[in-house]
Amino acid sequence: MAKRFIVLMGAPGAGKGTQAKRLQETLSLPQVATGDLFRYNLKQETELGLLAKKYMDAGELVPDSVTIAMVRDRLLQPDCADGAILDGFPRNPSQAVALDELLEQLSGRVVIVPYIHVGQESLIHRLVKRAELEGRADDNEETVRNRMRVYQNQTEPLLAYYRNKGLLVEIDGEQTIEEVSAALHQAIEAAA
Ligand code: AMP
Repeated sequence: MAKRFIVLMGAPGAGKGTQAKRLQETLSLPQVATGDLFRYNLKQETELGLLAKKYMDAGELVPDSVTIAMVRDRLLQPDCADGAILDGFPRNPSQAVALDELLEQLSGRVVIVPYIHVGQESLIHRLVKRAELEGRADDNEETVRNRMRVYQNQTEPLLAYYRNKGLLVEIDGEQTIEEVSAALHQAIEAAA
């Protein structure tokens, strides 16, 4: 069977990470979160982490070449043998094209792109709350605003890219965590 990849889309604070973690258990596919991979590298003070830091602190995207190489390495790991849940990648059209090329090499395909939709007001509210709870360095107000801008300018065009491929399914992200999970499961089952 071809490897199955699920691309979770949604603005920063939409709940992609929370839902990806829940999905990985039920679907037996690993969550591949580029933000987590960069944070891990930063903590280990690897060359990659140090390079990524200035972009992350500013709320900008880490350059594509670096990001795509990191994802490629990750998807070649044995735990991705059946596929993965992609969280935070792709984040711009050229990353999406790179993913398509990579999946062709890996005999995999994107089976569905759930888009967790949350209104702007709720997003800002959630991110400010997360900053208080987790103390993420890039959750300060200025960076949050820039991440929103970057999302709107660079990532939102991907919605059309996946809609045109017939892969995009919108999920109401204003519901409870359980309700969003249930809606995601239903959409994924219907797509399988
Ligand atoms: P996240 O945890 O997904 O919000 O990502 C945190 C930060 O990591 C982002 O603001 C970017 O600086 C960087 N990052 C994560 N994923 C990507 C990606 N696909 N492309 C470029 N930079 C990324």
